[in-house]
Amino acid sequence: MALHNPSRLDSCRACPRLARHLRSVREVHPDYHARPVAAWGSQRARLLLVGLAPGMHGANRTGRPFTGDASGEFLFSALARSGIASTADANTARLKNVRITNAVKCLPPGNRPNAGELRQCSGYLRREMNDLWSPTARRPRCILALGVLAHQAVGIAREQRLPDFRHGQLIQLEHNLWLADTYHPSRQNTNTRRLTAAMLDDVLTLVTGLLRSG
Ligand code: SF4
Repeated sequence: MALHNPSRLDSCRACPRLARHLRSVREVHPDYHARPVAAWGSQRARLLLVGLAPGMHGANRTGRPFTGDASGEFLFSALARSGIASTADANTARLKNVRITNAVKCLPPGNRPNAGELRQCSGYLRREMNDLWSPTARRPRCILALGVLAHQAVGIAREQRLPDFRHGQLIQLEHNLWLADTYHPSRQNTNTRRLTAAMLDDVLTLVTGLLRSG
């Protein structure tokens, strides 16, 4: 599978349905970012958070994954409690050892990318995973999948059959490379308490413990 060059991300139009959707969003919201959204955070990260796709009024507006909407607020509160982010305010937070991205870099209609789009964008995710870990890595690295589709996207990008998604599970992918799962911090999940702050804290405790272990 090809690695996609991140310097070309901003002009990527490889998914016609998403490119059309972004064009229509820009007409309604000319002040929104409304282009592919790149990863952000530490260049020397040992933890890669993978969401699904930019939210309409979150990353699609701000240009940064998990900023500007309720999902981002919930996630950043947890990152701050765990010491991963310097503050719960995503606008001013410094990220320690962590990088945040989405499996699909463009806003999909109805927050739902299709299988072809997950596959099409997987070259960018694969590049980000390669930046996280190499076979010579001496200390543990972890990918935290936020939701079922992010978990599946990691498998697609690695061309690896993975166990099914399960909140709270930790899967060893390679020597010093792990995959952890949590439910996505979407408003739908947090309002119904499918994902509570305590549940996300527990997963982040697991992950930070793993990263400290090596
Ligand atoms: S979703 Fe990914 S592959 Fe598709 S157009 Fe956007 S950046 Fe390109």
